Amino acid sequence: MAGYTAEDEQIITREFNELLSACNKICKNEADWEMINKAFFLAKEAHKGVRRRSGEPYILHPLAVAKIVVCEEGLGVKSTAAALLHDVVEDTSYTVEDIENLFGPKVASMVDGLTKVAAALSEDVSAQAESFRKVLLTLSDDIKVIIIKIADRLHNMRTLGSMPRHKQIKITSETMYLFAPLAYRLGLYAIKTELEDLSLKYMYPEQYAEIEAKMNATAAERNEFIEKFIQPIKEKLTENGVEFSISGRVKTVYSIWSKMQRKQIPFEEIYDLFAVRIIFKPSDLAPEKAQCWHIYSLLTDIYTPKPDRIRDWVSFPKANGYEALHATFMRPDGIWAEVQIRSERMDEIAERGFAAHWKYKQEHDDEDEFDKWLRDVRSALTHPAGNAGDFLENVKMTLYMTEMVVFTPKGEARKFPVGATALDFAYDIHTNVGNTAIGAKINHKIESIYTKLKSGDQVQILTAETAHPTIEWLDHVATVKARQSIISYLKHVRQNNIENGISIFENRMKEFGITPSARLFRKLLPAYDCKNKDEFYSKLGSEIINLNDIDSVLRQNAKNKVLKFWTFEMAGNKPGDLVVKNADVDSMDEPKFVAAECCNPIPGDNITGYKDPRTGDIIVHKTDCQELISLAAQKGENLVGNIKWSTYKAVSYLSEIRLRGLDRVGVLRDLAQVITVELDINIRELQIQSHDGIFEGKISVYVSDTDSLHSLMDKVGKIKGIDKVERV
Ligand code: MN
Repeated sequence: MAGYTAEDEQIITREFNELLSACNKICKNEADWEMINKAFFLAKEAHKGVRRRSGEPYILHPLAVAKIVVCEEGLGVKSTAAALLHDVVEDTSYTVEDIENLFGPKVASMVDGLTKVAAALSEDVSAQAESFRKVLLTLSDDIKVIIIKIADRLHNMRTLGSMPRHKQIKITSETMYLFAPLAYRLGLYAIKTELEDLSLKYMYPEQYAEIEAKMNATAAERNEFIEKFIQPIKEKLTENGVEFSISGRVKTVYSIWSKMQRKQIPFEEIYDLFAVRIIFKPSDLAPEKAQCWHIYSLLTDIYTPKPDRIRDWVSFPKANGYEALHATFMRPDGIWAEVQIRSERMDEIAERGFAAHWKYKQEHDDEDEFDKWLRDVRSALTHPAGNAGDFLENVKMTLYMTEMVVFTPKGEARKFPVGATALDFAYDIHTNVGNTAIGAKINHKIESIYTKLKSGDQVQILTAETAHPTIEWLDHVATVKARQSIISYLKHVRQNNIENGISIFENRMKEFGITPSARLFRKLLPAYDCKNKDEFYSKLGSEIINLNDIDSVLRQNAKNKVLKFWTFEMAGNKPGDLVVKNADVDSMDEPKFVAAECCNPIPGDNITGYKDPRTGDIIVHKTDCQELISLAAQKGENLVGNIKWSTYKAVSYLSEIRLRGLDRVGVLRDLAQVITVELDINIRELQIQSHDGIFEGKISVYVSDTDSLHSLMDKVGKIKGIDKVERV
């Protein structure tokens, strides 16, 4: 691989120096500086000569990621080293042990986590749910891994232009589905916004360009307007001794686009293209919260506020730690404008998220909103729902929610995702309250438990001991807690029902003298419209079905040409003497002859019996059955040769034929025609596969004897294109 040019080396050195100057605020001693230097030189050596798709030296990527980690996420020295090393184990011959020897266990475990995340994401797209789960599992270990991964993803999104289209789409969809919501959840607003904006740019390039062009066309006018709007605010706050900075923030293309989508309106009808942000330096005279409201009150002297549009994230911080007071005021042109009021501390948390959160948290260590959210995510991850689909559903609920605040009768505030119902509220109070909820008093009016709550509602749950969750409840909840509680209740009830059902069924079968078998269930399940045994038992146990008509169910099958029973007899005995029905369904006798499942003999076949040494039953095989031949080789003494078919009343036998031919239009129709119309045979199963112009099929049919089977095979063989028909 070609080395780097002098020019490349110059760029690398320049970027590294920029990183070093950014590290001034995190490196506290010689050891810190040494760690950064060592990580850089090892990464540079490991990626030596390698270039990114854009053509630039590979090392510029980890350098850029490290810079994001320091400057935009506010993480420390070890995380920065891990960022520099994040692709070393995945892409080069260095191992995690090497990293551990050189940098210690903390950096090594972060690099290990990053390598695992990268591996999970490179897996097959069809297993996306599972790979997202693996990515999120790193949340349970070390949340810094995810934050570094987000930096990695941000840089990849910034440089996505040089990737081929299919990669752009894969990376963009992961970003929208996973990384942008995660960045939001971790309080990294600026990064979340940029990720969304870049995603839109690659997902819908034309729409993005169109909105961007319109924004640019109106930029000068807008900036002038913003200046005019904030000028009186500046004067007012200064007069009142507030130390602050103020800026007008233009919305991103993405947020404009999503508003156009949400409201189904054109660009020209979006008026709130900017918001104003006031960041104040807290004074010692009053708490930050009081200062927020003081500023709000000063603003009301200038502009008319819209009282129902106040968002108080100071009294009720968001789950990701976000705090600010958002208010809306009438602009001079009659349009509403949003103003965000934050202290410097609140602003740092809003921009840096997690890292800033921990910085301030050291001052008071009670569990706050962010910790609660993290605990929820960890619990969803460590107690995963049954399957990957359920898991994703839970994660979606946790990651994507936007919040509202609802109150208990005593005025305690609780947070819910928008869309949450009274039922969610009930489960939030207590699982038992949820399980016995029958209604709710919302703002003192009685409503259904399915009622969707609105921000500010006061809710009281009405319960009744006799009430209990039903499966429909799952359609009316929006929180993981409610969902998991309902599912676990239903599972518990179902388990009881299953056990109950098993005992009902077994008792009933004893009355009939029938031993339950797989074949019996193949008859019963469709008759009772159940997909599996558990469903059957559970319906039986909960009295949704009963066995009063089981007699006729079993008989009805015979009319339907379902495999029923047949008779064998020992040659030399008088017909009838030793005739025993295949007993698994209808007979109260013990089964003596059982048709072998491996070769499915049907009347007309040459048969040989094999006496099962355990049960004494005689298993009847086709004489040329491979299974029988191998049994005979081992235990010849158990063979029973003198068996023949007796008169048989059974209508149909299950048989399977396999066919092969040239694929052509209409072959399937011809096949169905032959089987159903001409021969009046019931198809149990028809499987067709076609590849490279070759057509292969497997048909399971009910036939009454070998003659009709052979006649069927003859006719099928005559269909144009089919060149091979054989019995399985
Ligand atoms: Mn990378």
